Amino acid sequence: MADSNNEGRLKDLAGKSVIVTGASRGIGRAIAVEAARHGANVAFNYLKSEQQAGEVCSQIEALGVRAAAFKLDVGDLKGVREMVSAVKKEFGAVDAVINNAGLTRDKLLMAMTEEDWSEVIRTNLTGAFNFARAAIFTMMKAKHGAIVNVTSVSGLAGMAGQVNYSAAKAGLIGMTKAMAKEVGRMAVRVNALALGFIETDMTAVLAAEHRTAALNLIPLGRFGTVQDVAPTAIFLISDAAAYITGAVIQVDGGLAM
Ligand code: NAP
Repeated sequence: MADSNNEGRLKDLAGKSVIVTGASRGIGRAIAVEAARHGANVAFNYLKSEQQAGEVCSQIEALGVRAAAFKLDVGDLKGVREMVSAVKKEFGAVDAVINNAGLTRDKLLMAMTEEDWSEVIRTNLTGAFNFARAAIFTMMKAKHGAIVNVTSVSGLAGMAGQVNYSAAKAGLIGMTKAMAKEVGRMAVRVNALALGFIETDMTAVLAAEHRTAALNLIPLGRFGTVQDVAPTAIFLISDAAAYITGAVIQVDGGLAM
């Protein structure tokens, strides 16, 4: 049962500075807007979707907080360092980083190219390392901070056709736990959010028979929505989760248990 005190704490991101990667569309966008709804100033990046990024900025600013958008590949460490420094300068701190940017290049192993492999690892895994690497010193110095790495049930259980993606998402889970052990003493928390099938552009490309097969495996009987995901991400960066670190929280309708 939610007590009123806890409800209040969940809304306690007022004045906080939150970075969400890959927030022009899908889950990242929903998390960015939800963080703004909880009072945070939100900075985000994206790769190509300039117009949608502009819309996200307007949505965030309409909630009475500040927005900053960066057209930046998460795989570019130099650019990531510059973005994190700019956010710190503009917003005064970096309180939370949500490593959400990701992509799939699904193929059977026998057809997978080196490029399919490296693009997926670079975006999903190295991108998260880059942002954590760029923000960690600021957080450790402040003795305060939260990182959330968006991973997948594909990284927990492995999925055929996703050797690259499963490896990247499993890597994120190991990275989350190692980071949590390193920085816990400095009150910096690192958690992973393992998602099942969520309705976004990423899953819109699934063939009808794959969709039906997936639905049959989900105890809750439906794909999730971005609104099913965003509140959990916000919870993990809020003080309500002050004693949670190194956890892998599944938002998957019961798919992987
Ligand atoms: P999506 O709708 O395809 O959106 C991906 C977002 O990431 C876009 O904003 C995209 O920017 C950005 N992005 C991609 N590559 C980038 C790069 N190299 N640098 C910067 N930004 C980049 O995907 P989604 O479904 O919301 O997925 C979000 C996260 O959840 C991913 O990590 C994904 O692996 C994970 N996830 C999703 C599902 C699902 O069922 N949807 C399930 C499990 C896990 P542009 O718009 O500019 O391309």
